[in-house]
Amino acid sequence: PESPRALSAESPRGRAIADAAATVIPGGVNSSTRYIGAPYAFVAADGAYLTDADGRRYLDYHAAFGAILLGHNAPVVNDAIRTALDGVDLTGIGVTEAEVRLAQRIVEVIPSAESMIATMSGSEATAQAIRLARAVTDRDLIVKFQGGFHGWHDAVARNVISAPDKAYGRDPLSRGILDQAVDATLIAEFNDLDSVAALFDTHRDRIAAVILEPIPHNVGALLPTTEFVEGLRKLTEQQGALLIFDEVITGFRHALGGYQQVIGVTPDLTTFGKGMANGFPVGGLAGRRDLMEHFNGRTGDVLLAGTFNGNPLGCAAALATIDYLADHPEFYTRTHALGARIRTGLRGILAEFGIEATVAGFGGVFAVYFLSGPALGYRDLLRNDNGAYVDFHRGMTERGFLMLPMALKRNHVSGAHTEEEIDQTLEAAREVLKTLA
Ligand code: PLP
Repeated sequence: PESPRALSAESPRGRAIADAAATVIPGGVNSSTRYIGAPYAFVAADGAYLTDADGRRYLDYHAAFGAILLGHNAPVVNDAIRTALDGVDLTGIGVTEAEVRLAQRIVEVIPSAESMIATMSGSEATAQAIRLARAVTDRDLIVKFQGGFHGWHDAVARNVISAPDKAYGRDPLSRGILDQAVDATLIAEFNDLDSVAALFDTHRDRIAAVILEPIPHNVGALLPTTEFVEGLRKLTEQQGALLIFDEVITGFRHALGGYQQVIGVTPDLTTFGKGMANGFPVGGLAGRRDLMEHFNGRTGDVLLAGTFNGNPLGCAAALATIDYLADHPEFYTRTHALGARIRTGLRGILAEFGIEATVAGFGGVFAVYFLSGPALGYRDLLRNDNGAYVDFHRGMTERGFLMLPMALKRNHVSGAHTEEEIDQTLEAAREVLKTLA
């Protein structure tokens, strides 16, 4: 980055914006997981960089929680939106061509997709998936994994990063959720098929679906064993429940066909969001036609509504992103190689300083766990030294490298990062980690 900076440096413009925000927006930010602290506010974005209100540039691995995939303001996406601006804005009647082309594209590239609906966000997609699962199975319970995040709505907002005394127990993310909604979602351990089988045993004929991030990136990068995912496929089939892959982060990022293509297991339903439209608000739910047909307004029995569903601008952005990825398979070889470079580099530095840590990841995603030994399930993450990550994050921010501020989260290499920038990142990481040794 051009201008490494210090958190202690004056940030008058950013401070002023943040102070104004705090008077009219609760906490000053529009999502409780957004970082409140310097750098406070951003005014520009290009490629792998964000520029803050005081003119300082940061190399961005936060990537809007993974919504930026090709890089900020990718010309191919922004041009498609500019063109779409001259077309239909919104109708609320019938369908537009962009919606059809997007659904066709998804059906073409995603192994589990026979038809698709376009939502505005990942949370809407998982809410629709869960309602659909309950409707088609006529069952009430859902299984999710400790550490998995599937959005902010009542059915799934529990047990993500839980404290040791709350993990696997009752850990809703919010007050205001009905007890019945919390209790209708059961918690299993990732990579532990027996923990899922035990729930099916205890709650006979009541589990509608198992939902998972195929790589739980909301706690970094727990890599699934093929045996575990194949086992989930078999178990859900045997038990008459649906298997839902939440590919809101993994989708399009790890492979054009999502992580289901990588691992070779086809779920019944798949949800998308984030990187699918390179930073523009679009989500999606795709899956088996017989299931998706329940959303058919004439013959189906599951409500599908949303004024902005399938809006032309979002669909144009998603189409441009997916078309780009389809036409540039080297995106994957490149980001995977850069991801491997940063993971290998970090491992070397950590080993050199004798710091107990594990660097995990897949493709362009990397996570630094400050714990010893491999991490297979959430149970392993309970040993993480969260304070060490926070110190690492602060040091990196001070040097102009933006990463997710919460321990156990992951970071993202986009299509705009270069080998040189990865090496600059490693140099900065060396300085920071030296102070932690
Ligand atoms: N699913 C996963 C795996 C996510 O990481 C997120 C958001 O972080 C969601 C769903 C919810 O998506 P959105 O924030 O677009 O509602």
